[in-house]
Amino acid sequence: MRVDIVSIFPEYLAPLDLSLIGRARASGLLRLAVHDLRSWTHDVHRTVDDTPYGGGPGMVMRPEPWGEALDALAPAEAPQPRLLVPSPAGTPFTQAMAHELAAEERLLFACGRYEGIDQRVLEHAAARMPVTEVSLGDYVLFGGEVAVLVILEAVTRLLPGVLGNAGSLDEESHAHGLLEAPVYTKPPSWRGHDVPEILRSGDHGRIARWRRDEALRRTAARRPDMLAALADDLDKRDVAAL
Ligand code: SAM
Repeated sequence: MRVDIVSIFPEYLAPLDLSLIGRARASGLLRLAVHDLRSWTHDVHRTVDDTPYGGGPGMVMRPEPWGEALDALAPAEAPQPRLLVPSPAGTPFTQAMAHELAAEERLLFACGRYEGIDQRVLEHAAARMPVTEVSLGDYVLFGGEVAVLVILEAVTRLLPGVLGNAGSLDEESHAHGLLEAPVYTKPPSWRGHDVPEILRSGDHGRIARWRRDEALRRTAARRPDMLAALADDLDKRDVAAL
């Protein structure tokens, strides 16, 4: 997958060199480039913002540098990327969207700052590429960079070959509409708290059932909305666990 990120704070994206994302880049599974929006400005102050039409507090990112950045990174005659614009007013980011994005060949992220990017940039881009405004959640951040780090981490771990054991993707929270059961490691007893006996029994059938029951109970307690969405898929044994 190829990913381009445009930001006025490219250094904010430095963690993308670390850990499994860094490894995915080194191995070529992820081809990633971070670009400074200011390199598409032409004035001595490298200006990217201006006052909002209609008045009000804050500044808005001007369309010209964004237009030039998108023209340079996604020339009209070339295959187009999917443009992702982090925004608290966007579609909520979910594991389902992470899967959808992991299937794309190319992603282009536009990191807003101040009060956001002039809306015409998105309207203009939408004539030639899919554009998605995406929200991390119902709160407001300073800028889109942190959102890009989150989205890319969720997407990269879904790329084939990135995780050593792809089976872990199948068992984790949100894989099948449930939260994952609690997990434990050695020692068997720690500060008076014991690992549930069944996990040490070696009985794989009972362990699988225990994990599903715990996942159901945890989801019911913490995310009743998720459990309600699964209602038609629960069998009698599932219902008995709740
Ligand atoms: N004026 C905007 C509004 O009220 O919708 C908020 C702008 S925010 C201060 C600056 C930038 O941070 C946004 O353009 C976006 O890129 C990013 N951002 C803030 N909150 C976000 C969120 N919940 N999800 C994704 N991006 C967010």
